Amino acid sequence: MNVYLDSIGCRLNQSEIEGYARQFRQAGHTLVATLPEADLLVLNTCAVTAAAASDSRQRIRQARRAGVSDIVVTGCLSTLEPESIQRMAGVTRVVPNRDKDRLVPDLLQIELPPYELEPLERQPIPGERHRTRATIKVQDGCENKCTFCVTTVARGESRSRPAAEIIADIRAELAGGAQEIVLTGVHLGSWGYDFERPAHLKDLVMQILAELDMPRMRLSSLEPWDLAPDFFDLWQDERLCRHLHLPLQSGSAATLRRMARKTSPRQYAALVRAARQRIPGVAITTDIIAGFPGESEREFEETQAFVAQMAFAGAHVFTYSERAGTAAARMAGSVPLAERKARSAALRRLTAQTAAAYRQAHIGQEVNVLWEGMQTDSESGWQLTGLTDNYLRVMARAPQPIWNQFTAVQLTASIPDGLLGEICHLPDTIRLA
Ligand code: SF4
Repeated sequence: MNVYLDSIGCRLNQSEIEGYARQFRQAGHTLVATLPEADLLVLNTCAVTAAAASDSRQRIRQARRAGVSDIVVTGCLSTLEPESIQRMAGVTRVVPNRDKDRLVPDLLQIELPPYELEPLERQPIPGERHRTRATIKVQDGCENKCTFCVTTVARGESRSRPAAEIIADIRAELAGGAQEIVLTGVHLGSWGYDFERPAHLKDLVMQILAELDMPRMRLSSLEPWDLAPDFFDLWQDERLCRHLHLPLQSGSAATLRRMARKTSPRQYAALVRAARQRIPGVAITTDIIAGFPGESEREFEETQAFVAQMAFAGAHVFTYSERAGTAAARMAGSVPLAERKARSAALRRLTAQTAAAYRQAHIGQEVNVLWEGMQTDSESGWQLTGLTDNYLRVMARAPQPIWNQFTAVQLTASIPDGLLGEICHLPDTIRLA
């Protein structure tokens, strides 16, 4: 069977799709790069914003138009609105989040041996999901009730995967050629809290770094209240990427209280200060919501001032959108949509400036880049793109396509959303994609 895998939204959705890729291959099926080639589509949907939900529906319609006969839909949108998804033309099966870990064996009506018993050569998912980083799910669900968040509604209570299982997955990915491991979850920082003998994410990271050797490991989004300053001692190990994504959501204490966020601007600032002291050159990126119910002009000014003070290396700015089933959707004080959008635009301009300043500070430095994208270039053969450990996007030219390999690069200029550089030395052997 020809299978097309697709996901929208968070890294966790991506890691689940990568897991399905391994299982379908293990079962002898072929992954294809385009919808017209596919017999089956498995789509991992998102519902975090109205835009993500509409994008999910759009992907189903596209598959229908492309003639895909079997459309299986899982993820947050299909969990929150199963009936309406089931009614969409071409949808043959809806798998809610609580059953998604068994999606492939249930669909194929077979039992699959644990992956690590027969690791397959790492073959990235064909088409646009051609990645070098292996995203590993360590935890699902969340016990917090941030009032704007529909994910906690769609994914249920927090549940951590055992360390042994996580390490087996990572070992298999490394055996298959992955150069960077990304740990992810709905609420990554709560890993281990639900164990009989509670543990902390710090314990898991230490165990992984002690038991496995890998070029790089990155942690995805971390809620600030899960981290104590000594968490940053982990970065004495240079394999850990100097990148922390710490969702702020608002810089106003009053707005944060209405969001039921377990932090304050003062606590957040102290954590960022501790991180910058212990991890030189660390990139701090964040998520911010503009136009949350009740957000007065004054509260928004507080947010702007705080965001400027934090000088983020990057940010996702979301225009608040009501999500059915969340407490915020029932709150008074709705901010007019045009005003929400104006506030988002102002925050995007502000964070683009601080991100540009962060990039500019690296001009002239020599950095290590993991190459992950390429296109032919008339002038010199190939235009490569890749990432540094501190999440700088770098472009450089090369006579040959380099993929899933590291090279040293001299950074020469800043461009929108990235940096230009010159490769210091080409690898002795070029691993072709
Ligand atoms: S911590 Fe808050 S925002 Fe994050 S998943 Fe949980 S409820 Fe949602």
